[in-house]
Amino acid sequence: MRTLLVLGAGTAGTMIANKLRRRLDDHEWQIVVIDQDDQHRYQPGYLFIPFGSYSRDDVVRARHDCLVDGVELVVGEVDRVDVKADRVRLQDGRELGYDYLVIASGTTPRPDQTPGMLGPEWRRSIFDFYTLEGAEALAEALSEFDHGRLVVHITEMPIKCPVAPLEFIFLAESWLREKGLRDRVELVFVTPMDGAFTQPIASAQLGSMLDERKIHVESDFMVERVDDVQKMLVSYDERQVPFDLLVTVPLNMGADFVARSGLGDELNYVPVDKHTLLSVEHDTIFAVGDANDIPASKAGSVAHFAVEIFVDNFLEQIAGRPMTGSFDGHANCFVESGDKKALLIDFNYDTEPLPGKYPLPYVGPMSLLKETRANHLGKLAFRYVYWNVLLPGRPVPLPAHMSMAGKQSPKEA
Ligand SMILES: Cc1cc2nc3c(=O)[nH]c(=O)nc-3n(C[C@H](O)[C@H](O)[C@H](O)COP(=O)(O)OP(=O)(O)OC[C@H]3O[C@@H](n4cnc5c(N)ncnc54)[C@H](O)[C@@H]3O)c2cc1C
Repeated sequence: MRTLLVLGAGTAGTMIANKLRRRLDDHEWQIVVIDQDDQHRYQPGYLFIPFGSYSRDDVVRARHDCLVDGVELVVGEVDRVDVKADRVRLQDGRELGYDYLVIASGTTPRPDQTPGMLGPEWRRSIFDFYTLEGAEALAEALSEFDHGRLVVHITEMPIKCPVAPLEFIFLAESWLREKGLRDRVELVFVTPMDGAFTQPIASAQLGSMLDERKIHVESDFMVERVDDVQKMLVSYDERQVPFDLLVTVPLNMGADFVARSGLGDELNYVPVDKHTLLSVEHDTIFAVGDANDIPASKAGSVAHFAVEIFVDNFLEQIAGRPMTGSFDGHANCFVESGDKKALLIDFNYDTEPLPGKYPLPYVGPMSLLKETRANHLGKLAFRYVYWNVLLPGRPVPLPAHMSMAGKQSPKEA
């Protein structure tokens, strides 16, 4: 019996285990997944919790119910990987061996990494919505907030779902308007980037949407500390941004066990080949999803497209054949823009988000880089697709590789 051990039963780990269980002979392979708890959380849903449209019940399910029969779930926190012995040790002392290891432990917000962030104002006037507990606490704070400066802040890139802070501020703007409070609230978007987003065409479009909504942008802001007495963000070049309510996205980092095992870069991400997701140092270790260092967005959609390529490659690898699949960094993300509308962006390692239609070229029904109601409905429908199609590892009629069909090149656009 050979063992495939998967560290992390989140988006990527669950899809991998479920897909491979159907493809690997259960007399030859056991599949074991380790996670620190038994609660699978649908993280894209956190965005809607502060505004009261989703609650905990909409985003949490038991992990073991998300895994198909024949996949074993071990609940425990990974302490380290011993790459020489092909073994994984848990914090409680248990040890598990493996023939192949997949690291799918994602990335986690780390407010402890910025001085002053986790001080007495944490969850009083300083909030995050990248955790369920943070999103719930923010819902309560927002329900009492009726005037002042609301600052939305990104500490450092990369973060998972890099459009989520923009979505948050667009939703906040429309929510304040609905409540008749928009005139009483100053909205500020603080980012370490030089614009609204990482890629030029999308950045220009999203930037002009911020302007139209009278949201002030403080760009190139590298935060040094949070002054929780004077309630302001302070940058390394000594700029100050005061706030009454701060919604921050703390530094995102890979799991600490990755560092303890000598497997990570400075942010605990596992260096891999960007096309096969195989560790650059160990030929029995893959890292899939947010846990790796590929130059793509950290997003569930990237995890999904990457898993499609990984599964076929893995079967070739264990059969002793060369891996023929090549992941192209494909990402697609809905961007909620308020007033029941959203944009959609579709891109990969080489091509930035462009206008056009998706998934059917020229037909849609979704429109790329354009605010539409169909895109918003697509975002809402995605929760159903996540629980019922993606996580169980059912086939999705979308190509894993990005397509240029129906997209307008920058000259045409
Ligand atoms: C607010 C928000 C909105 C988002 N919106 C979108 C969106 O609209 N579209 C999109 O595509 N993506 C979105 N994402 C990103 C998406 O949720 C992640 O990119 C995706 O979940 C990554 O999958 P993963 O399997 O790599 O990591 P995760 O799903 O985070 O899973 C990692 C797992 O590893 C486990 N783990 C970590 N360390 C240990 C340890 N030491 N021991 C045991 N287990 C461990 C964790 O418990 C977790 O279950 C959003 C994220 C957030 C926070």
